[in-house]
Amino acid sequence: MTGAKIIGCINHPGLEAVGRCLQCSKPVCKQCGIVSVTGLYCSEVCREKYEQYMHRAQALESEKGYKRGFFFGLKRAVGVVITLAVILFVLGCVASLTYIPLLTDVTTRIRSLLGI
Ligand SMILES: [Zn+2]
Ligand SMILES: [Zn+2]
Repeated sequence: MTGAKIIGCINHPGLEAVGRCLQCSKPVCKQCGIVSVTGLYCSEVCREKYEQYMHRAQALESEKGYKRGFFFGLKRAVGVVITLAVILFVLGCVASLTYIPLLTDVTTRIRSLLGI
């Protein structure tokens, strides 16, 4: 006694089902199951329905992925610009408030070149 129940095909109750339809999950045997690249189906109608649904879902997913990528890129670009602005602002403040030998040297040279 194993107790394992054999699931019969929806069209042939005496035959063991090899699997269930992906679309309507009806059990089907080897004879009536339609095997496609995407899986097993009980009928052509189910196969078409499921494949159409998959196409729509995939199209939606790729569209969402594209939008997410775009906004992510935009956010990152804005972040970089803000960071650069902050760095430039801080550098400007530091340069005007403190004595930086190198900067002063450069300014002096430019001034002497210009004759100021
Ligand atoms: Zn089906
Ligand atoms: Zn069958």
